[in-house]
Amino acid sequence: MSSLHGSPGNDHLQLDPGVFYVCQRCTACCRWPGDVRLEEEEIPRIATFLELTEAEFIARFTRLRTSRRGLSLIERENHECIMLEGDACRIHPVKPEQCAGFPNRWNFPGWRDICHAIPVKVVRGSAAGTP
Ligand code: SF4
Repeated sequence: MSSLHGSPGNDHLQLDPGVFYVCQRCTACCRWPGDVRLEEEEIPRIATFLELTEAEFIARFTRLRTSRRGLSLIERENHECIMLEGDACRIHPVKPEQCAGFPNRWNFPGWRDICHAIPVKVVRGSAAGTP
C-alpha cells in the first residue's frame, strides 16, 4: 500500500495518485460527526501549543474514542469539533493527522458531497499544496 493511501479510518481506500485535493478551508470535515482521533505523540504537541499541561489538555478537550481505544477530541452537541472557532481551527498548526490527511490520505463515503476541496492534477516531482 502506498503512503498516499490509507487512513485513520479507512485503510483500504485507494485514491487516484494523479489527483491532489486542495483544501478550501470550508470546515466541513470539522463539522462531521464522529471521532477526531488523537495519536499519543500528538498530545504533547497540541498541549504545548495551547500552553496547557498534557493532563489539562486531556481533561478539557478529549474523550474516549467510540471504540474506547485511545482518545478523540470532543465534539460539540451540533457535532462540530471543540477546536473549531468560527471558521478557523484553534490548533491548525498542530492539528491531528486525521485532520491534516483529509481528504487525500483518507476519506469516507459521501465525502465529496460535503467537502469543497478542489482537485488538481499532480505534476511529477512537485509538492502539491496541503491543507
Ligand atoms: S482539530 Fe481542527 S481541523 Fe481537526 S476537526 Fe477539529 S477544528 Fe477541524
